[in-house]
Amino acid sequence: MSRGILAVVSGFSGAGKGTVMKALLEQHPGYALSISATTRKPREGEADGREYFFKTREEFEELIRTDALIEYAQYVENYYGTPRDYVERQLENGRDVILEIEMQGAMKVKEKLPSALLVFITPPSAAELKRRLVGRGTESIHVIESRLSRASEEAVYMEQYDYIVVNDRLEDCVQTVHNIIQSEKHRRERSPEVIAQMKQDLKQFQKGE
Ligand code: 5GP
Repeated sequence: MSRGILAVVSGFSGAGKGTVMKALLEQHPGYALSISATTRKPREGEADGREYFFKTREEFEELIRTDALIEYAQYVENYYGTPRDYVERQLENGRDVILEIEMQGAMKVKEKLPSALLVFITPPSAAELKRRLVGRGTESIHVIESRLSRASEEAVYMEQYDYIVVNDRLEDCVQTVHNIIQSEKHRRERSPEVIAQMKQDLKQFQKGE
């Protein structure tokens, strides 16, 4: 069985990436979503082991020390990291794994695991990003402005991703992300055995043999 694809999905806060991920996993239950560890406090409705593994700072630093994380990053004063065991196990079992992580973490994954597939989800325009942030109605204008200025700093990372997906219509975006991950399975680099076998088998048809 061939190894699964490791897909890293990132995007600006407010790009609708959470909604895209939710729909993707509902429509394609075969994907394994990695659950991160974090030191941030659970929000209302979040459960330990479902949205995140909630850790104390000491516990998180122990995970770092024991090399139990594929990557970790600090984001707004908190640690976030990807536990290694789960991801490795799922990939070995041939399942495609999705990491929904911010950009510094994505860069580290690419460095450590060059075969990882990096997908960036973006709203169609900066004006639309602002509109979506305002439309949520949950954040103050101060928070919205800080998210927009962060997005401006983060935009430089877009260049490092393998695919940029514009999230205009949700359904299209979900389908595109799924297609990208599935296409990755057919990369030539992932099929050395198929090529070798075909070359070997075709030899019998060579002229004169
Ligand atoms: P939130 O606190 O809103 O749940 O997440 C804040 C940010 O942390 C989001 O951009 C999310 O994608 C990112 N994040 C979640 N888990 C991880 C992780 O394991 N590693 C990294 N580097 N970022 C993460």
